[in-house]
Amino acid sequence: MNSGLLLLAIMTAPFLLAVVAIPLEHARPASPQARASGTHSLTVLVFASVAYTLLHFTMGALQAGIVATASPFQFMSLAALPIPEWLGFILCFLLIDLLHYGLHVLSHSVPVFWRLHKVHHADDQLSALSGLLHHPLEMLYVTIVTLIVFVLVGMPVVVIMAYSAVVGLHAVFSHLNLRMPGALSRSLGWLIVLPDFHRIHHSARLDEAHGNFGTIFSFWDLLFGTRHAVSAGVAARMKFGLPRAEMTSPFTLPTLVALPFQSIVETVRASRDPAPVHRKKRK
Ligand SMILES: [Zn+2]
Repeated sequence: MNSGLLLLAIMTAPFLLAVVAIPLEHARPASPQARASGTHSLTVLVFASVAYTLLHFTMGALQAGIVATASPFQFMSLAALPIPEWLGFILCFLLIDLLHYGLHVLSHSVPVFWRLHKVHHADDQLSALSGLLHHPLEMLYVTIVTLIVFVLVGMPVVVIMAYSAVVGLHAVFSHLNLRMPGALSRSLGWLIVLPDFHRIHHSARLDEAHGNFGTIFSFWDLLFGTRHAVSAGVAARMKFGLPRAEMTSPFTLPTLVALPFQSIVETVRASRDPAPVHRKKRK
């Protein structure tokens, strides 16, 4: 397969998986109260198609190209570690995931990053498609930060491309609103981020949402004390999305685009059109 076809396959696979998952999610929902409607799914699909496909994969490909040619800026080379190739691959894959864990923690703790990241949390009808919902500006800053790190440490291009392919599919999988066998969560859940684990991260209660930051591997949360566990019964009744104060408009394409700037827009509107109670009465 040539590289163009491979990139196309990597780009479209998460969307195909999300579409295939829709009937399964309707048949066996883990959270029936959050079942996505057709209009809602279409909004997420259109927004995600632009933001996720164009930015994540084109920037990812560009990133791999820059890393391959920017050797003067390297202070070390992970590609040249004196260890077996397979071990180097696993180590680098884990390092990229750790970097994404760190960026995700920052996205919840630094206000300017939260403004961008909260678009991903805006979906109150959680489904596989929610995994692809990110604001383009968030994709851009994550790409720039990871690019800088990759260049500095000489991250092997093959690992960058492999991680991009896996993280797209895994993002869809981890947001599935699908009842999973309990044995799977109890065993594999300590290693991989599963839907049950990640669902808590989308709780409308921000104290629950500020945890379970792992992207592909779940053990980072255990290691750094950010793991939240909620029983299946609670998850089945849980509300998702953002609290009212964080999102004052309905879930539409313009709202998603403008959400990071919501308070700025509201301040400008209020200054142009002051509320009647603040207006001075004419004498
Ligand atoms: Zn988050």
